[in-house]
Amino acid sequence: MKIYINGSFFSEADAKISVFDHGLLYGDGIFEGIRMYNGRVFKLVEHVERLYYSAKAIALNIPMTQEEMIRAVVETCKANNLGDGYIRLVVTRGEGTLGLAPDRCKKPQVIIIASTIQLYPEELYTKGMSIITVPTTRNHHNAINPAIKSLNYLNNILAKIEASNAGVQEAIMLNSQGYVAECTGDNIFLVKRNQLFTPPLSAGALYGITRGTVLDLAREAGMEISEPDVTRYDVYNADECFLTGSAAELIPVTKVDGRQIGEGTPGPVFKKLLGLFHDLTKRSGTAIFE
Ligand code: PMP
Repeated sequence: MKIYINGSFFSEADAKISVFDHGLLYGDGIFEGIRMYNGRVFKLVEHVERLYYSAKAIALNIPMTQEEMIRAVVETCKANNLGDGYIRLVVTRGEGTLGLAPDRCKKPQVIIIASTIQLYPEELYTKGMSIITVPTTRNHHNAINPAIKSLNYLNNILAKIEASNAGVQEAIMLNSQGYVAECTGDNIFLVKRNQLFTPPLSAGALYGITRGTVLDLAREAGMEISEPDVTRYDVYNADECFLTGSAAELIPVTKVDGRQIGEGTPGPVFKKLLGLFHDLTKRSGTAIFE
């Protein structure tokens, strides 16, 4: 594997950054998780754009333009000769001192790893997954805005531990008002009477690229869409529930907090949107080999 760090490629053994990097010391940095299908990077422009929005929000100046970043991702995929895979793009605050002060960090580190990922077992895609609501509240937007895809993922990790302790793989996180925000690493969708619902981004969700793609596909297919505040009651009484994320793609949820959702099997709206999503991944994206 060839790993990109600041414009050069290193082997896995030699890909190293400083122990004084504030990405390590304080989780001070940002990242993206991107998919590659059939030699094309899916929604690359959107991911790079979100990376720069995250950078803006944490006052981090990435020492490259968005076009240069897009090229660096493509070059890394090319160097690893990957057709399908998962790309982790990371920008840290860089090497600093043992104090918090970010202005002591002079050079952000840009790291790109192109590899593979299998987030959930295949069986869950056909049978549906069981999830729970966890006690850890999603970050308040005045603390760390969930829209920032930062290296500080402890909020999500605490929720993931609670999920794992309960024997499930994903969990619904509520915001400080008690409304559904999202899951630990995925956005959430509900279907009720053929209408598609997802919590508004203001409820405390990442501006998911897959979420946006699914909303676009549903709109193009003529479905009714809305983004209301969602409670657990709404989730329990939905006809269908599914999650979206770059790593997970679309995955059906058939049980929440012990309540069966709808018929207890992946529903027709989920299946239709999954088909449309797979069609899109086959025909769109930034080509690696021109
Ligand atoms: N929410 C959170 C907290 C995430 O970390 C992710 C990405 N893993 C998502 C939602 C889904 O976002 P995307 O579709 O852009 O991958």
